[in-house]
Amino acid sequence: MDTDEDRLAPRPVTRNQAPGAVGQPKAVVLLSGGMDSTVCAAMARADGFEVHALTARYGQRHGVEVDAARRVVQALGLASHTVVDLDLRAIGGSALTADIPVPKTAEAAPSPASPLAVPDARPMTPASPLATHSSQLAASSIPATYVPARNTILLGLALGHAEALGASDIYIGVSSVDYSGYPDCRPAFIETFERLARVATRAGVEGAPLRIHAPLQHLTKAETIRRGRDLGVDFSLTHTCYDPSPDGAACGACDACRLRREGFAAAGVPDPTRYAPAGNGTGSDGQARVDGQELPSLRVLEIYRTIQGETTFAGEPCVIVRLAGCPLRCSYCDTAYAREAEGMELSLDEVVRTVRELGPGIVGLTGGEPLAQACGAELARALADDGRTVLLETSGAFDTSAVDPRVRRILDVKTPGSGMEAKNLPQNLAALRPIDEAKFVLVDRADYDWARELVRRERLAEKCTVLFSPVKAKLPPADLAKWIIDDALPVRLQVQLHRVIWPERDRGV
Ligand code: SF4
Repeated sequence: MDTDEDRLAPRPVTRNQAPGAVGQPKAVVLLSGGMDSTVCAAMARADGFEVHALTARYGQRHGVEVDAARRVVQALGLASHTVVDLDLRAIGGSALTADIPVPKTAEAAPSPASPLAVPDARPMTPASPLATHSSQLAASSIPATYVPARNTILLGLALGHAEALGASDIYIGVSSVDYSGYPDCRPAFIETFERLARVATRAGVEGAPLRIHAPLQHLTKAETIRRGRDLGVDFSLTHTCYDPSPDGAACGACDACRLRREGFAAAGVPDPTRYAPAGNGTGSDGQARVDGQELPSLRVLEIYRTIQGETTFAGEPCVIVRLAGCPLRCSYCDTAYAREAEGMELSLDEVVRTVRELGPGIVGLTGGEPLAQACGAELARALADDGRTVLLETSGAFDTSAVDPRVRRILDVKTPGSGMEAKNLPQNLAALRPIDEAKFVLVDRADYDWARELVRRERLAEKCTVLFSPVKAKLPPADLAKWIIDDALPVRLQVQLHRVIWPERDRGV
C-alpha cells in the first residue's frame, strides 16, 4: 500500500540562504561518478547554484567511480570536489563491499541471509513497459548490491559539508522509478532525512533549514538520460557498472548495466558506454549473448507480414520489424507513432522467433531508428544468422560500421528539407557497398538540387543503388521524374508502394 509520502510530487526549487551567505547560493551534490548523480549535478548547476561535489570512497570494489567523478567535476566546471575516505567494508553486508558475488542475472538476487527485505517494498506506478519490469524487480526484493545504510551515511556527510560551506541545499540522484529497489532511494527516506536535518544542524535550528533535493525521484532512467542530454551531459565520462573489468570497461551484465542500457535504449540516445568484449557474467538462461554478455531486450512496436513498399525489393512479400524510438525529428516523419512510442519489451530471441513464425522472405528492420537501440545491430545479425535477407533502414545518424556485413543497409540520407541534415555521419556514406542502398526523401526542388550534387560529388551511384523518394503531398512524383530525366541522373525514383496499395492505412503496412 502506498503512503502519502511515497506519492510526493517533485518540489519546486527555492533557495534558502544560509546565515551570512552572500552572492550565488551554494549546493552540495553527492557525486558518485555515475549517470544519475552526474545529471543531478548538472540540474543543480542549471538551478543556479554554485555546486560543490562530494564523493565517498567507501570501499567499493573498484576505484573507477571516483575517477569518473573527477572527470565529471572538471567537465561541468563545478566549484569544488571533496573526496572522503570512508571504508564501509568494515561493515560489509553488500556485494559491493564484501565477498558476495555481484548478481549477473536479469534480476539482481536478494542476499539470502540478509534481513534486508522490507515489508513496505512496493511496486511503483509504471511509466512504461520498461519501467514496469524494473519496478517489479523493485517490488520483489532488495538486491545484494544494496549497501547497508549507504545513503543515510552519505547524506550525513553531505549535511556536515553543507553546514561547513554555508550551503543551503543538498542534491542526491536517487530515483524510485527504474531503480534497483534500495530502501534508501525512496521518497519516504528523503523526506524523513530532511526533517532530521532541520533538528540536527545549527542552520536548521537557527531558521534556515537545509533542503534535500532528489530531482530524479520520479523520473524513469530514460527521462533522466534525456534531461542530462538536454543539459549537455557527456555520459561517456560517467561510470555505472557494479563489476567493471580491470581497465574500467562495464561488464554489461549486472543490474546497474542493465538499467543503464535499457535507459539509453528507451531514451533513443546512443549509449556511449564502453563494454568489456567478454562478459564478466553469464546472464540468465535462454538469453541471447554476445561474447558472453547478456543482451538487453528490444523495444518493438510491431512485427507483421506485408509487401515491401520501398527499396529495390519493393513488391516482394516480407516481414517488417518496427522498433520503437528515434532521436531525430524529420519534418516529414510519417512514423511519429513509432518515434515517440515505448513499444513492447521483447528479447532478441522472441523477435527472431516471431519473424520465423510469420514465414519466409526478406525482413525489413525499421523504426523509429533501429540503431538507436542497444542491440538493434545485434538483431540484424541474428536475423541474418537465421538465414534471412535483412534490410536495415537507418537514418544515417548512427555509425553503421558495426552492422553485420550480410545485412543490407538502407541509408536514409537526411536532406536540408528534413531539418536533420546535420545528423548525417559522413563515414556512413563512405562505407556504402553494392548491396546497400542510399535513399533521399525529398521535400522540394532545393532538396533535389542538394541531393543531386551529393550524388555526383560522392559518385554514390557507382557505389550502390540510389533512391530518390518524394514526400507525399509536398513534391509531385511527376515533377521529380522530370528533374531526374532532364539531368539524366543515375538514380531510381521511388514511390511508396504500400501507400499505393493501402492508401487509407498508416500502420501495419
Ligand atoms: S529518422 Fe525516420 S523515424 Fe526518425 S524522425 Fe526521421 S523519418 Fe521519423
